[in-house]
Amino acid sequence: MSELISDIKNGRILKKNGSWMYCDKCNKTVGYLCYSTYQDFQFDFVCKCGNKGSFRLSYKAAEKILQSNKELKLNKNRLCCSNDNSPLFTIVDKNIEKVNYSIICKKCLTHYDSKS
Ligand SMILES: [Zn+2]
Ligand SMILES: [Zn+2]
Repeated sequence: MSELISDIKNGRILKKNGSWMYCDKCNKTVGYLCYSTYQDFQFDFVCKCGNKGSFRLSYKAAEKILQSNKELKLNKNRLCCSNDNSPLFTIVDKNIEKVNYSIICKKCLTHYDSKS
């Protein structure tokens, strides 16, 4: 397994490779990241308390990344890959003002992001 590269600003995450993500100013949850289904994850948030933070967690990918023209699929608050239904992450909308994300599914190496 390749090494996890992580860079977290103004936030904290329960486990080093996933689980609940918190704003480090007001300690509210901003999201949840599934442990084993992402290749690369970026999450930039503006919390309702005014704090701005970011989470970057990624494994180096040797294979080719595919850009998806599809949206992530929502299944009970969990955003999932629309190719293989891998559960990826959750956004806790009620606690955040704004979010931008980018994620690559580990299984199919498809890239999704919120700006497209
Ligand atoms: Zn906050
Ligand atoms: Zn996938």
